[in-house]
Amino acid sequence: MKKYQLSPNLRIISDHESEAAMVYHTLYGNPSIINHEGLRFLNLFRQPTTMEEVSGICDEDPQSTIQEFLDVFFLVEPGLDEKEFLRKQKAQHLSQVGTRQTVDRMGLAISDSCNFGCTHCIHFQSSSNNGTALPLYQKPSQQLNMSWETAKKCIDRYVALMRERGHSHCKIHFGNAEPLINWPVIEKILHYCGDMSDLTFEFAINTNLVLMSREIAETLKKYRVRIATSLDGTSQANDAIRVTKGGKGTFDCIMEKFDLLAEIGYPLDGFSITVTRGNFHLIDTDIIDLAARRGMTSIAFDYDLVSLVDIPVATRVDKLMGLKRYANERGIDFFGTWDSAFRNLSSESLLTGNHAFCAAVEGKSVEFNVDGAIKVCSHTTTQVGHIDTFDQMFQETGGLFKIVKERFPGTDEYCSGCAIEGPCGGQCHVTREVAARSVGEERQRLFADMCDFYRTITEALAVEYIRSNGSVAVGSCKICTL
Ligand code: SF4
Ligand code: SF4
Repeated sequence: MKKYQLSPNLRIISDHESEAAMVYHTLYGNPSIINHEGLRFLNLFRQPTTMEEVSGICDEDPQSTIQEFLDVFFLVEPGLDEKEFLRKQKAQHLSQVGTRQTVDRMGLAISDSCNFGCTHCIHFQSSSNNGTALPLYQKPSQQLNMSWETAKKCIDRYVALMRERGHSHCKIHFGNAEPLINWPVIEKILHYCGDMSDLTFEFAINTNLVLMSREIAETLKKYRVRIATSLDGTSQANDAIRVTKGGKGTFDCIMEKFDLLAEIGYPLDGFSITVTRGNFHLIDTDIIDLAARRGMTSIAFDYDLVSLVDIPVATRVDKLMGLKRYANERGIDFFGTWDSAFRNLSSESLLTGNHAFCAAVEGKSVEFNVDGAIKVCSHTTTQVGHIDTFDQMFQETGGLFKIVKERFPGTDEYCSGCAIEGPCGGQCHVTREVAARSVGEERQRLFADMCDFYRTITEALAVEYIRSNGSVAVGSCKICTL
């Protein structure tokens, strides 16, 4: 007679205030809010137990409930290899990568040059940069701007891929350091794509706005280019870290550009805040009030995990959750890389679909460097291919295939047994790269801290989820998407 028991990968997060708990599978997710009675039922399976034994204890026939829990791997037969199903999902996903079915968006590193001098910028972190070293962009030998010829070649290749797949909607992101430094190439791309009448385009740009003239703003509006920009707090907090090359604060200048966009009828719907050790103590709810006064609806917020390692995880999580609640109460979506694991946990089970930490490591995006080298997102340093050998990256030995294979949830031994192994799947590739560049014990410390942060913030979001009876914990905005 078959016996069943609780999966060793089952996790229970209890909330004493609401007297309920969120139960989920660490690989497959499927969070369920369960009351005391439900927990008591699950507890019957602490030891291997038959259906008949449980039927003898329960008032009602437990068969359908047991089947529901078996379907989501909350209950399993003793000794079941719970990763077997995951391996099948992975093979299926990799076959899609190999047949070029996954890529749906592209990015162009329009310029590696920047008019700002923020030392925390992810694009300019050298291997030994502790947040105070000079950015790498000062190296004179680097090719800084993407040429029109390279940009056109990349777009043509991407567009051909979309057409080959029968897709008529294309997504192009302009980014890297400060793309407006190379505005003529962006403008040419907008015209070029605008002339492709069989396709629709969705454009986005990451810019610090300072070089945006009225004319540029009007063009961005005309092509509905979604503008992502940063403001790292109100005046004092922003100017502590977001500075010109000469070290001057940038708050006033950024505000002028916010006003310009509002004046031409193309107001921003939000901005991104980066918090480092330089402005952690200065970030408060006043930045959310500023967004609310301007009628904004979203704020992306992220910690520079590496430079904040000396601030306890609980302090960082408390601050973040407090700001999130304050923003949500004012109708502002508050999101960041930190909510990705919970978002994956609560939205997409690996039993019914495929996901990795983010679209980049799922193989959905290709980002072309100024010289045509290809990466999966603009922030990573891992090269997966090159425009001149575009097709190679999809092969089993190719860079895109390899990164998706390595980053599929359940693959990394380091993550085995983690409370959020499936939904986190090894977290942001860039944060991993930055931590991996540190040496010795510091590297271990950074990894442990980052994981502790992700698990703690996911648990805090789970408590919100329980209290809202499963209706809300994260909004609709996601980080790093076009
Ligand atoms: S990266 Fe860390 S938090 Fe994420 S799954 Fe791996 S061990 Fe867990
Ligand atoms: S979450 Fe990290 S790896 Fe993913 S797109 Fe964003 S920066 Fe890149």
